[in-house]
Amino acid sequence: MKAAAPRTPRASAPARKASRAAAEAVGRPMSVVIRERLVKAGQRFHANDNIAEFIHSDTEREALHKEVESRVQALLESLVIDTVNDHNTQETARRVAKMYLREVFRGRYEAMPKVTEFPNVERLSELIVVGPITVRSACSHHLCPILGRIWIGVLPNANSKLIGLSKYARVADWVMSRPQIQEEAVKTLADQLEELLLPDGLAVIMEADHFCMHWRGVKDESSMTSSIMRGRFLKSDALRRELLSLLKRD
Ligand SMILES: [Zn+2]
Repeated sequence: MKAAAPRTPRASAPARKASRAAAEAVGRPMSVVIRERLVKAGQRFHANDNIAEFIHSDTEREALHKEVESRVQALLESLVIDTVNDHNTQETARRVAKMYLREVFRGRYEAMPKVTEFPNVERLSELIVVGPITVRSACSHHLCPILGRIWIGVLPNANSKLIGLSKYARVADWVMSRPQIQEEAVKTLADQLEELLLPDGLAVIMEADHFCMHWRGVKDESSMTSSIMRGRFLKSDALRRELLSLLKRD
């Protein structure tokens, strides 16, 4: 009788996923692989969209980092900067890639920080005002910094969720760490908070300095305030007045 051929153990699901991802990436830039996944899923990938779930592993993250580094290096070369002899710029490409992917734009590449929500057991229905929260963002037109402050007003109802004070800052930081325009940033943050908190009313006010105006362009002092009001804040003048009186703005 013929002996059965020894069975080769079947690879685990994560291992299969990793090898499939490696095969996808062979000889192609990581950004192309990620873009294909986004297009296939019909997912928008504007500058202010989060694409974390389309990057499947730390290996892919690392490959994307290397790719961005080489593109920044090419940019420096096109700017005719002697990165071989100028010791100040030898590591610039690596630093800039790290800054974009892991720091100032990480709200695109990393999943939302974990936020534990609590039920509103005390049935709080009074206005909560959080702020000022210091935020950093960047304009998507020039990739220049936007530095500012945010205030959040929440009017909960009995079915709303509550989150810890520091969590407002973490969610705001995650939304702000993307290239975008201020009006969209405020809207994205309001959408995210509404989804988390299920409030009766929500207000987000942002006041920020735009460095594309300070550093280039008109070189003028230039700050911008934008606000979004949702639910009860839209309907009640008294509530809006109460919110504005509680904001600590100088
Ligand atoms: Zn700009």
